[in-house]
This record gives sequence, structure tokens and C-alpha cells, in this order.
Amino acid sequence: MEQKKLWLGIGILLAIVVVIVVVIAVVRPTKEDSTEGMSTSDGAESTSDMSSDGEDTIMPVDAGIYVERVDDLSEDFINGVDISSYLALSNSGVKFYDFEGNELDDQGFFDLLADCGINYVRIRVWNDPYDESGNGYGGGNNDLATAVQLGQWATSAGMKVMIDFHYSDFWADPAKQRAPKAWENYSVEEKAAALEAFTRESLLTLLDADVNVGMVQIGNETNGKVCGESDWNNMNLLFGAGGGAVRSVAEERDQEILVVLHFADPETEGRYADYAAKLAAGNVDYDIFASSYYPYWHGSIDNLQSVLGQIASTYDKKVMVAETAWNYTYADGDGQSNTIGADTRGIDREYDVSVQGQAMEIRTVIDAVAGIENGIGVFYWEPAWIPVQVYDPEADNSAQILAQNQEIWEREGSGWANACAGEYDAEAKEWYGGSAVDNQALFDFTGHPLESLKTFRYVRTGTNAAYVDNGEKPALTQEGTVVSDADNLLPDPGFEESDGSMWIISDETGSTDIEVNGTNNRSGSACLHFWNDKDFSYTVEQTISLEAGTYTFGGFLQGGDAGRDDVFELYVINGEETLTAEGGVTGWQNWSETVVDGIVLKESGEITVGIRVEATAGAWGAWDDFYLCRQVAGD
Ligand code: CA
Repeated sequence: MEQKKLWLGIGILLAIVVVIVVVIAVVRPTKEDSTEGMSTSDGAESTSDMSSDGEDTIMPVDAGIYVERVDDLSEDFINGVDISSYLALSNSGVKFYDFEGNELDDQGFFDLLADCGINYVRIRVWNDPYDESGNGYGGGNNDLATAVQLGQWATSAGMKVMIDFHYSDFWADPAKQRAPKAWENYSVEEKAAALEAFTRESLLTLLDADVNVGMVQIGNETNGKVCGESDWNNMNLLFGAGGGAVRSVAEERDQEILVVLHFADPETEGRYADYAAKLAAGNVDYDIFASSYYPYWHGSIDNLQSVLGQIASTYDKKVMVAETAWNYTYADGDGQSNTIGADTRGIDREYDVSVQGQAMEIRTVIDAVAGIENGIGVFYWEPAWIPVQVYDPEADNSAQILAQNQEIWEREGSGWANACAGEYDAEAKEWYGGSAVDNQALFDFTGHPLESLKTFRYVRTGTNAAYVDNGEKPALTQEGTVVSDADNLLPDPGFEESDGSMWIISDETGSTDIEVNGTNNRSGSACLHFWNDKDFSYTVEQTISLEAGTYTFGGFLQGGDAGRDDVFELYVINGEETLTAEGGVTGWQNWSETVVDGIVLKESGEITVGIRVEATAGAWGAWDDFYLCRQVAGD
């Protein structure tokens, strides 16, 4: 008995000690914050402290958003932003403010970026973004003179500059790589000579204007094409010509300037490995293999880290993310619809649509790149491309504001494209106007900075704030709609039951591999796989009898290698009416849901539900888990 009491006493004592130790451990950082980590508005808060053993200890700072510190982030890790549209916005009368609400002049705007931990600025350059009459194509009218002005402000703020040559007169991306007007009839050798001269002269102009250029990008998102050339030997010749111009200028000026190549769509299996091998085979001299990474299009962060890591180690190249972004709202601020909305295909569920969500996204990408040996930096794309005037569709004067915005966009080039750009860019013929990314900015619609802008500084210390989930998740999630078998009115919704024979497949191309198999199921034992090495189109549908009521039709798709304009559509034919919803492929086993809502049958009858695909050669994927269910009142 006595021994038991003794052991009990020791046990209680131990428990008390443990509790005290835990309490101290939990309370201690909070105490230190109040004295060491006071957040101040000028960006100069004390974040380090000499501890007793002389080591520099970094303390998390007080903040309104939660940011986990990125460990071992090197001092020179690039925390960059692309602010190419800024001058056009400034010319449009757009005002920006600091965190205290003070209006900033142009230099003040760049100083604010630097205060927020941004140390690099990316600026795109188009050769001749003007029509014959000298009207700008818009998108910031980013010619060389614009880059000089932006570069000088960035340099004065202590930041370095990356010049992003598109070698085009307007937007270059995987779908568009048109040569500049002046070069369109050139042979590839003539293009190489012109590209080298343009790169050299532009770079000298920038350096002579005291712009601190540290990197030069040879082409933008050059996925299998650059400057109108799609043969890799020709592409390698052009990459080499641009890189060679950078090397010679850097040597003459005795300044380190790195050569960057930039690609997109890391989610496609083998794409980057293939590109890197082709560059190596052509002996292209470059320093950095850069990728775009938009989470809603470009697969998982682990995949990004893996494919970039492989190139870094295989070819001894530096790697980085040249563009990324995330939206804090689904709202549109200027009357020009945004690229990313609630119905965006493949929108990733990992981040909230909020300022906190932006910080999480930025921090995640920085952490992933920093985790790669030779991972050198991340650039956020166009964090300041906000409305020229805030447009509220509900306001009494909405029509007037929209008309004024359209006039300002056209006059100053502050929208993504002007009407006159249609002569050069087919897409801009139909679709031109204002900012398509105002909901992904790190400033609100009126030019006040969001706290997510400070993420670049916060990643170096971490913050003490609690993570607050605002509950506004992206509309479409990886899990997607869960429909019980009892509620699902669709026969053979996942292709298991009848080996697909309930579905009518119409292969319009004739040669498409459309097959029910078990290779990539989202659930169950089967899915509907498709692939073709030629451009192809097909439909798959069922006709079903339903009672009067309101219904929802949805399904899931995964796949890749599709063109930007490819169609992956769900449709519902209900009497005279056809309803559709656009889906898309965003990577292997990255299932995205597409939903046709509000299918109203006034009386009982038949409807046809189906999918339509019109895709470019090489696209592949699989459909699974369709559902057709009755909407209950109140849904
Ligand atoms: Ca907009």
C-alpha cells in the first residue's frame, strides 16, 4: 500500500511537471511576440533576436493572416512580381495606397513592393504593340520604352529586373506565338539575326538607362513554339540567338545577367523532360528553366516540384516559377469578366478564395521551389492589374461607368486587349476590354493593398496569426458532388454495369480510341477512356424518361494534352432547349466536376444527357461518375 501511494505521488508530481512544461512552451512565443515581434507599418519590424548562444533567432511577426515561415529561405531567394501593366494603369488615373491609406506616387508604389519583401520585378516586352496608325494593342502597351520606365522605378526601389521578351507584337502563350509583324516573312535565319539584334539593343537601352537587369527571358510560355517557329531545331536556333545576345552584353558590361527559358503546363506527364532534352540536344545555352504555375490549371504542387527538380538535377539548371496567382474573390471589379470565376474548370480546393488563401498559395509555391536544389524564386503575375474605375453592375450609373472604363482602356491600353489588337490577335477580335485578373490582384479594386502582398516578407519570419478559414471554398472540389445510388437516376453512371452499352457513343472522327476500361477509375471498376493522335470529336449520351421536376446532371473528367480551345462539354437536350456546361482536363487523375444545373421538366417526358468532346490531336482523358438527380426544393 505504502509503495503504491509513493508511486501515485511520484506520478502526480510528474504529471504536474509535464503540464507546467507544456504551458511554458505554449505561452512563451506569445510573450516574446509582444516585445520582439511588434508589427509596424513601415516594414521595419524587428524580426530577429540574438539569443544567449549568439545564434540569430528569427521570430514570427504579428499579422492579420497566417503564414508559416519557409525554413532556410536564402537571402537572395527571388520573391518577384510581374507589374507590366502598372504604367498603363497609372496613365489611366488609377491610384494606389499604402497600408495606412496614404496615396502613393509611382516611385512610392515600387517602394511599397520592396517594403513587402519583393526583391525582383518582371516586365514583358513586345516588339511593336501598335497598329499602323500608332494605336496601342493594350495589355499595358508594353513596348521597350514602357519597360525602361518601369525598370527605373523598380531599380530605384532597390529591386532587380527580369525582362520577359515575348518576341511578338502582343501576347505570347502556348496557344499564340506569332512573330512580330516586321519579321513575319523572314526565314528562320533572318529571324534569329533580328531576334539577336533586338535583344541586344533592347538590353543595352535598359542598362544605359540604369535599369538593374538581372535576368532576361527568351520567349514566353514557349511550349513547342516561339516567334512563329515550331520546329525544335528552329526554336533552338532562336533560343540560342536570344541567349547569345544576353551573354555578349553581360560580358561587355561586366554584369551577371541570367538567361531564362519559360514554359507552361507542368501537369502534362513528360512535357518538361521532353523540352529539356530537346534543348540539351540542341546545345542551347541557358541558366534557368522557368514554369508558369496556376493551381487551377497546372496540376499539383508536388508534381511541379518533381518535374522542376528533375530538370535541375539532370541538366544542372536553375529553376523557378515565372508566373503564379490566386484569386481572393469571385467578383469582377471593372466590367470585364475575369479569367477565374466560380465556374472555372479544375479550380483547386486547396486554397480558400480569400486574402488568406492567396497567402497560402504564395507561401506554398515559394516553399515548393525553395525545396528544390537550384530552385531560385517565384514571381506572382500582375498583382496590381486592378480596375481603372470600379464597376458595380447593380449601381444606377453602371452603364456610364462601363462606357468610361471602355474609353480609358482603349485610350491608355490598360485593359488586356484593345479593339485594334484584333488585326494581329484573332482572339482579341471578339474579346477585348479591361482587366481579366482584377480578382487575383494583391490590391483591392480601389488600389489598397491586401495583406497577402506582405506574404513575400512573412515567409521569412512566419506570423503569429491564427489561420482563419473564411468558408468560401472554390465552387468545384476534388471530392465533388456526392450522390447516393438511390438518388442517381442515371443508368450505369460509372460504366460498370453494362460495360457502357447504356451509353450511345458517336465517334465523329471515326478513329478515336473511346473505350470503357478500368485503367483510371475515379470510383468503381471502370471509366470511359479516350485518346486520339489526330484532332477528334465525339459524343456520348443517354435518353431517359423523367417525371416533371428540376434536375441536375453532372460528371467528372481527368486528362491532359488538350489545347486551350478544346471543348469538353456536358449537354442536356430537354425538348426545344439545350443546356451546356464547359469542363476541361487539368492533369492525370486530377478529376474535375462539370455540372448542368436547373434542368426543368414542366411535365414528365424524355431528356437526353451527354458529353461532347472536340479536341486537338494527342488529347487524352477519362470520364467517370456521372449523375442525374432530382433537385429538392430549397436546393
Ligand atoms: Ca475584370
